[in-house]
Amino acid sequence: MRCEHCNNGERRPVRRAQLAERNGRTAVVLDVPVEVCDSCGEVWLAMDVAKQLDELFTRLLDSGAESSQIHWGQAEAA
Ligand SMILES: [Zn+2]
Repeated sequence: MRCEHCNNGERRPVRRAQLAERNGRTAVVLDVPVEVCDSCGEVWLAMDVAKQLDELFTRLLDSGAESSQIHWGQAEAA
């Protein structure tokens, strides 16, 4: 699919780590399925992925750990 951001590159499905920070705590989710433009680097998250990622970050950040890291595949199974 053509990138509507730069109207030049192609959107390609890749796996990327996503990071969230809140109150000095850090949560990282590895291998999140996203699409990235090979020209401008713009990143897209599918609606359901974004929603699940949001819930995951909330859970990780609320766990009380200073930093936490989880794999997307593990998160889906949980
Ligand atoms: Zn682009």
